[in-house]
Amino acid sequence: MPGNLTFDDLKSRVADGTIDTVLTCIVDMQGRLMGKRFHAANFVETSYEETHCCNYLLATDLEMATPDGFASTSWQSGYGDYVMKPDLSTLRLVPWLEGTAMVICDVLDHHTHQPVPHSPRAVLKKQIERLKALGFDAMMATELEFFLFAKSFDEIRKSGFRDLEPISGYNEDYHILQTTKEEAIMRPIRNHLYAAGIPIENTKGEAEAGQEELNIRYAAALDCADHHTIAKNAIKEIAWAQGHAASFLPKWHHDRVGSSSHVHQSLWVDGKPAFYDADAPLGMSKLMEHYMAGLIAYAPEYTYFLAPYVNSYKRFSKGTFAPTKTVWSVDNRTAGFRLCGDGTKGVRVECRIGGSDLNPYLAQAAMLAAGIKGIEDQMSLAPATKGDVYEDSAAADIPQTLRAATETLRNSAFLRAAMGEDVIDHYTRAAEWEQEEFDRVVTDWEIARGFERA
Ligand code: ADP
Repeated sequence: MPGNLTFDDLKSRVADGTIDTVLTCIVDMQGRLMGKRFHAANFVETSYEETHCCNYLLATDLEMATPDGFASTSWQSGYGDYVMKPDLSTLRLVPWLEGTAMVICDVLDHHTHQPVPHSPRAVLKKQIERLKALGFDAMMATELEFFLFAKSFDEIRKSGFRDLEPISGYNEDYHILQTTKEEAIMRPIRNHLYAAGIPIENTKGEAEAGQEELNIRYAAALDCADHHTIAKNAIKEIAWAQGHAASFLPKWHHDRVGSSSHVHQSLWVDGKPAFYDADAPLGMSKLMEHYMAGLIAYAPEYTYFLAPYVNSYKRFSKGTFAPTKTVWSVDNRTAGFRLCGDGTKGVRVECRIGGSDLNPYLAQAAMLAAGIKGIEDQMSLAPATKGDVYEDSAAADIPQTLRAATETLRNSAFLRAAMGEDVIDHYTRAAEWEQEEFDRVVTDWEIARGFERA
């Protein structure tokens, strides 16, 4: 069971008054928890079966706008309801909020009770099922990088997002002294998440002032995505409670290092690692080679799912550990894909392209789809690259802008076949809308550059 609370446990805790609130959540296109706070008595009596939400929740942007152009819902169709179906196996305690538990819901059609295909959880479940049909399970880990700021979200918003002072004054990569100063926030993050049933491995300082990383032990793909989503929400809430902001914007300043979300991946059969072959070079099985060949070849087509906003593409710059090339390397942090744990049962591939703003369900689904394609087509893996990959002109580039990634997504026959035409049309529209909104707005940069001198 991925959560840490059975339904019977919940009922007794509600009866003895230790739990009074159940957060009943779906995951939206941006990877956020959205939903309702139920009185726990109502939840255990009736709402555990199902509840409802407006279907615009899977057709909106970060601002909750109602863009046109989505086939699934619109003003014309009256923005009806979806069913929120609690997945009771995800029930867990929320120790950082008093008297609170949480459940993640699947999103179903209001009339047919079938999964809504573009719901991020459904998108991932579909690829997990395709993989299962081939005989494999996917184990994944997403690393969460983010920045902590001296001030709170509200203070920063009131300053027009100008008062962006990181919580520390220097690069804190692996730095014990500096991270000790941040323990008032980071220790409760580790301990509360652990007590919520999320297998926290560690936190560490990252390679910029105020930058942090949280590592969670690898898990089955759907659980990994749930862990990521709950952890991201918890980090913001726990930092907020301490009067600080935690930001997952991939690039909050052009002179600062960006934040990523690397994704570690391995396939397993009957609880045994299927990527490992003790007799093969680097311990990589043929299966792993095919999977990686698919991952690498199709990376330009699924980059949108690793980098969904205009800002995501500001992170991809040379010499920053953020990759720009779709090649692989052995334990080399300049390549888009890094082989980790070579020669051991833990052999796995880490995709380093994704930003801290990725939606983990969509990102994992897209990469599984690419890996499955590699396996089905028995694609062969090019040799590993060596040295500084940024300077390798023969290596293929990933799209450098949201506009370019939108076109590779729109035209991806492979993704359309793997995920469904409707799903790709839906996310292509989301990508277009993001760009349209950016193009409409006059930025600070333009004003500063041209106000006097143009
Ligand atoms: P790094 O060098 O990137 O810091 P770590 O050793 O910290 O690597 O591991 C990073 C992540 O990889 C962790 O979250 C860990 O749980 C995960 N991981 C370890 N083994 C596997 C595996 N076989 N499949 C997927 N993820 C794994």
